[in-house]
Amino acid sequence: MPIPGQIDPVPVPRAATRREDGRVDLVGLGKPAIAAALIEAGLEPKQAKLRAKQIWHQIYNRGATDFAAMSDIAKPQRAWLAERFLIGRPEVVVQQVSTDGTRKWLLKTADGHDFEMVFIPDADRGTLCVSSQVGCTLNCRFCHTGTMRLVRNLEAGEIVGQVMLARDALGEWPSQPEGRMLSNIVMMGMGEPLYNFENVRDALKIVMDGDGLGLSRRRITLSTSGVVPMMGRAGDEIGVNLAVSLHAVTKAVRDEIVPLNRKYGIEELLAACAAYPGANNARRITFEYVMLKDKNDSDEDARELVRLIRKYKLPAKVNLIPFNPWPGAPYECSDEERVRRFSEIVFEAGISAPVRRPRGRDIMAACGQLKSAAEKKSRAELDRIAEEKQAALA
Ligand code: SAH
Ligand code: SF4
Repeated sequence: MPIPGQIDPVPVPRAATRREDGRVDLVGLGKPAIAAALIEAGLEPKQAKLRAKQIWHQIYNRGATDFAAMSDIAKPQRAWLAERFLIGRPEVVVQQVSTDGTRKWLLKTADGHDFEMVFIPDADRGTLCVSSQVGCTLNCRFCHTGTMRLVRNLEAGEIVGQVMLARDALGEWPSQPEGRMLSNIVMMGMGEPLYNFENVRDALKIVMDGDGLGLSRRRITLSTSGVVPMMGRAGDEIGVNLAVSLHAVTKAVRDEIVPLNRKYGIEELLAACAAYPGANNARRITFEYVMLKDKNDSDEDARELVRLIRKYKLPAKVNLIPFNPWPGAPYECSDEERVRRFSEIVFEAGISAPVRRPRGRDIMAACGQLKSAAEKKSRAELDRIAEEKQAALA
């Protein structure tokens, strides 16, 4: 049965995107692709290779956005480059800072689609929450992004561009291995990263490159709602930490709140987790569990969660997420006491189950909320989209 979204097991190289003025944006291209673009523009292969190396370093290590600043390249050639290429960033539509320090950006692609990015600072580190798609094909019932149509996948350059924009905003160039506020990345913004596999992989490769943005793969987490056929490849080809949006332990409840479960069930999903390359006690899989009042939050649910994790011998931790309500949402967040009890049962079984602290509520920092506020879709429109998606999945 075909499902919406893109499951494309064949890696497709990304073609360089030309802007309206004909220039090519180099952000998102690997070193060989930059060299190929330079050759196409007329440079000798040997020189192109050398320049690609310099330009790569300037873009991803120094954070250069202008060829004029590249002092290791001869002046006339800088001008020649600027006529043909650019080093872009997503356009900022709105930037907000919460009273708790959380920053949120509503961004725009060059072709005019809005998407979101959030930075959550802690005492001496911080996590950037990056989007992989504009909208989402899936329709998790508690998720605001799920009420939006998928507009398109983000390109590798638009994904890595989010990280670069955050570095700009935090003043954290050049790239260095330690001591930065932007220390961690989670692919937990808008969209399902495993339905945009190639672009997410290519972007994260640049983020992880020691001479690129230089973030260790141990500091990057990819969150999936459970696209089972792509999980092995994610482990092999990207190798970052895995988070799985489990959210329920029975078929009936998970079918309802994460409709992808009708295609890839809980047992299949947990078997894929057990086979995830690199999962061990030092690198545990995170199970995300959104706390929905009277839906998935009973003692029995907590015990079943423990049983399942044990059955598959998973090196796991559980992240309990208080449901972040949005206008018209069909659920409520579990009471504090219920969340505490759920957490205790899992902890007592020897599995870490911290409760995630809500951040940035005053600026609607939860996934999909700022974009929605900007668009103000009617309730009827949201229902119609939800129904269409459900029908496509049935
Ligand atoms: N599509 C991927 C990654 C993006 S969603 C996935 O589903 O895993 C990132 C996390 O935020 C997921 O665990 C998702 O279930 C959770 N989430 C979405 N909407 C939420 C809400 N309103 N309240 C709390 N968590 C939410
Ligand atoms: Fe998409 Fe993730 Fe939201 Fe589900 S929770 S609708 S997969 S973004």
